[in-house]
Amino acid sequence: MKAFLFYAPGDIRYGETARPKAGPGEVLVEIKAALTCGTDLKTYRRGHPVLIKETPSVFGHEWAGIVAELGAGVEGFELGQRVVAPNSAPCGRCYYCQRERPSLCEDLQLLNGAYAEYISVPARIVQKNLLHIPENVTFKQAPVIEPLACALHGLERCNVQLSDTVCIIGHGPIGLMLTRLAKLKGARVIVVGRNPFKLEKAQQFGADEVVDITTVTDPVDAVRSLTQEGRGVDVAIEAVGLPETWEQAIDVTRRGGLVNLFGGCKSGTRFSVDTRRPHYDELAIIGVFHHTPRHVRTALSLVASGQIDADALIPHEMPLKRLKEAFQLMISGETLKVAIIP
Ligand SMILES: [Zn+2]
Ligand SMILES: [Zn+2]
Repeated sequence: MKAFLFYAPGDIRYGETARPKAGPGEVLVEIKAALTCGTDLKTYRRGHPVLIKETPSVFGHEWAGIVAELGAGVEGFELGQRVVAPNSAPCGRCYYCQRERPSLCEDLQLLNGAYAEYISVPARIVQKNLLHIPENVTFKQAPVIEPLACALHGLERCNVQLSDTVCIIGHGPIGLMLTRLAKLKGARVIVVGRNPFKLEKAQQFGADEVVDITTVTDPVDAVRSLTQEGRGVDVAIEAVGLPETWEQAIDVTRRGGLVNLFGGCKSGTRFSVDTRRPHYDELAIIGVFHHTPRHVRTALSLVASGQIDADALIPHEMPLKRLKEAFQLMISGETLKVAIIP
């Protein structure tokens, strides 16, 4: 089959590789659409310690397609059915799974290989997270459920109340989804970013105010000035993944508010916080990672009901062999997600 293979940081190649087979409990899927994601771009530029174990390796993790082969013992699926799955499934048995924290699973099984004609879905992911695509959801829209499930998980933990003011730092696909979800929860939303195309998208996704950091002297003051008496926002969510913006998220939040440090930073990096804030200001500072099977299912129903406009997150479409161009387009900041069609 044709696939894009990762050889080394900055070196990915379009070529032939062996078509996987469906082993016991597995389902082979013919991919109809894959979506680019910031994580894949990071893998392309820097490699990935967990996702890339040997080279050359297939990569990419947001895909949808049709069942092409059923492994022995698979139940609930038939050849030709339209299916989608996220990039992982928890074990259900470890310390964290037993305490209903499956995103912290000690044995999370990961799946990669979306930039290819076929992908073999491991038995555990088939059992826990392979879903039928509703009729009104396209192959292009369906893979959005993976990042959307992460965003849902992130927003749920913020406990947003009607009429809260929520500040979202970052306007990538995740920031935009968080914006829409916060609006669905009845919040007033302020989005902070620097890219005019994405700031306009943020307004499309429901942002009440946008702060363009290229036009203000201090983004923290700019956000605070949009709150009553400059008190700060009730909830801030960082969706960039930089220590500097983590600190800003804390700085824009009012006393007694909640800060969700949602964007993953490079490991080993640190940030600092004035000790006054968590103690005297009773600030809740949380982090949220990944998704759970429950969020994956909720994400699919939000896409199916049209509550989340998946197409608005995917301004471009390209054939598989032009994947590098798709990454270039992402680097330039002129797109959000690119649909990659094998
Ligand atoms: Zn992703
Ligand atoms: Zn587990």
